[in-house]
Amino acid sequence: MLKVAWSNVYAHPLPEGHRFPMEKYSLLPEQLLYEGTLTEGNFFTPGSIDERWLLNTHHRDYLDRLERLELSRAEIRAIGFPLTAELVHREKVIANGSVRAAVYALQDGVGMNIAGGTHHAFSDRGEGFCLLNDIAITANYLLENQLVRRVLVVDMDVHQGNGTAEIFRGRTDVFTFSMHGEKNFPHRKEKSHLDIGLSDGTGDREYLCALTANLPKILEVFEPDFLIYQCGVDVLASDQLGRLQLSQNGLKERDETVLTLAKNNRIPVMCCMGGGYSKRIKDIIEGHAHVFRLAQSLYF
Ligand SMILES: [Zn+2]
Repeated sequence: MLKVAWSNVYAHPLPEGHRFPMEKYSLLPEQLLYEGTLTEGNFFTPGSIDERWLLNTHHRDYLDRLERLELSRAEIRAIGFPLTAELVHREKVIANGSVRAAVYALQDGVGMNIAGGTHHAFSDRGEGFCLLNDIAITANYLLENQLVRRVLVVDMDVHQGNGTAEIFRGRTDVFTFSMHGEKNFPHRKEKSHLDIGLSDGTGDREYLCALTANLPKILEVFEPDFLIYQCGVDVLASDQLGRLQLSQNGLKERDETVLTLAKNNRIPVMCCMGGGYSKRIKDIIEGHAHVFRLAQSLYF
């Protein structure tokens, strides 16, 4: 049975006037239940993560200051969320959701987290709505516990996975692949193992060509035994932050390409959600729903 991490702290309300679409974390599971893609039995509730698994990825000093809510104003501004104990707790639960979904994936082939993909968190700082890097925490957890030997991060969010790239710079047991809008945030890019920066207005055909030209090659050369898929939906044409022009069909085909390649190569995959900032919340939910429907139809 498909296992999906979700906790009510995922949708922790933000102060009035904050524009981050936090409600997607409650509307997405509601939609998936309503349409029958998931039942209550698919969900599990992660608790907070043990600090030792954060220390594999983040500096002790940063974690301590985060815990004491002592980041500087500039650091908080870079994150874009107010710094509260609830939001720090929320990210620890999300990180644990990704870790536990990954462990389920080892058994079932696929596991999901209805949040996460917080790829702008660096080893020593947060950025762009990300405090802790759940992708890196998960990869390090799997490797440290010798559950896998080589992890491939496929980051398809419209924004470059800069934090993940920094954390895994020079590592040979993790390969970071980021396909993003070249002119999108972050303006100063980090170096992933492979970056594909797409020009403004890139549509379905060109996008899918870039994916199918690169992903099979990476699988062949790197031979990962685990895949972490950051399936952000801010590549949609309707997105207010993204500069690409994907349709819902293109997005669905992207998810299908990644999941099918993982399945055919017998590589377990953990999917975490990433960004989505379309004006209509319906477009965001529909965008994220594809990957759950596909996981159900391909694996179960
Ligand atoms: Zn994004």
